[in-house]
Order: sequence, then structure tokens, then C-alpha cells
Amino acid sequence: MMVPSEAEPTSSPPQPKRLYQAWKGNNVFLCGGRLILGPDAASLLLSSFLVAGPAIVFCYQMQSKFFRSNGQPHMHRAALLIVIITTLVDLFFLFMTSARDPGIVPRNTRAPPPEADERNLPATPSMEWSVGGTPRMRFRRTKDVNVNGVTVKLKFCETCLRYRPPRSSHCSICNNCVQKFDHHCPWVGQCIGLVSTHGYCLFPTISHIEYHYDKHLAEQKKTNLS
Ligand SMILES: [Zn+2]
Ligand SMILES: [Zn+2]
Repeated sequence: MMVPSEAEPTSSPPQPKRLYQAWKGNNVFLCGGRLILGPDAASLLLSSFLVAGPAIVFCYQMQSKFFRSNGQPHMHRAALLIVIITTLVDLFFLFMTSARDPGIVPRNTRAPPPEADERNLPATPSMEWSVGGTPRMRFRRTKDVNVNGVTVKLKFCETCLRYRPPRSSHCSICNNCVQKFDHHCPWVGQCIGLVSTHGYCLFPTISHIEYHYDKHLAEQKKTNLS
């Protein structure tokens, strides 16, 4: 005998949005928010082509013109393998720099409440009205904090509605505050900050090493042929 089941709800409760789906910045997210790119991430394709294109042409030229005329196949394969590996490592660091969080400082949805000593202060040039708080509140544009006995001045970001950590800055392209912000690189389409600095330094270093290795290899083969 069938027991009549309770009436099923006609509409399911709304699913909570994940952080990247409610992101206020200009970033582009891929793979369910696992990869975070800058708004100009299309330049990554050009950068990848500029790295991989010459390496492919170099390998083809070395294989077709020089290696066939010299009888050391194992050495030739090893030399080509080194070129291919350094190119792939170079592309890996380029991608890791472009597709990772560079050190974004999470933003507030509303301005922080004024501290006790700020409530009764008269408005001065160093104080501003918050733009997102309700009700409107006064806050200092800069605030001094003590870090290990050293006084550090923190600046308030009116877009992120929070005091930035030391050495942070707001990227106008990505529209985020980034820790240890250095610059926004158009070649990788991403901010260079706290997390991405090491990968960003390794990318041109490996490109430089690969360039000199390829140049040395080409000159050596030309000498052997002449
Ligand atoms: Zn900011
Ligand atoms: Zn940026």
C-alpha cells in the first residue's frame, strides 16, 4: 500500500554563491574559481607564442640543417631535449604567474565602524566620509599602527573599504588591493605581488638562460659545419 508522501516544495532554496561568483574585482575565473586571471589575460596567449614559437623554429632548424649532417644522434637528442624542457618550464612559470592569486586583500562590503577616539573628532583634511557605510561614518584616511615596535602608516582604500596592509596598493586594472604590490604586468595579464613575485622572477631568468643556451648551440653547430 502506498503511503501518500508529503507535498514536495515547489521551489528549492537559493544556492549560496561562491566567493568568485560574487567577486567585485575585474578578474576572470576559470575551472570553478581555481584559476584567477587578470582582465587582460588574453595577452598570455601572445606571451606564450613569443616563448614557444622561437623554440619550435629553433628545434626545427637545428634538426633539419645541422644535426643530420653530424654523426652524434645521442648528443643531438639530449641538446634538443634540454631546449624543450626549458621551454616547458618557462611556460609553466608564465602560466603559474598569470593564473594564481597574486596576494589579493579581501575587500569589505561596508566601511568599518569608527574607533572610539574617532567618533567625536571634528572633520579635518585628513578625514573623509565613507562612501559605502550606512549610516555615514567618519574615518581616518591614514592610521598609524605599531608593528614590532615600529610605527607603520596604513592607508584606507575607498574601493575595498578597508585599511591596506603595509606595502599593499590598489591595482586600478584588476580593481583589487594586492599585498606587496609591485606592478600590473601586461605580458602575464596579472598583478605582481606577494605570491607571484617568485614565479615572475623565474620566468625571465629561464628565458634568458634558454636564449643563451640556444645561441651557444647554434654557434657551435655552425663552427662544426664550417
Ligand atoms: Zn583597494
Ligand atoms: Zn592588476
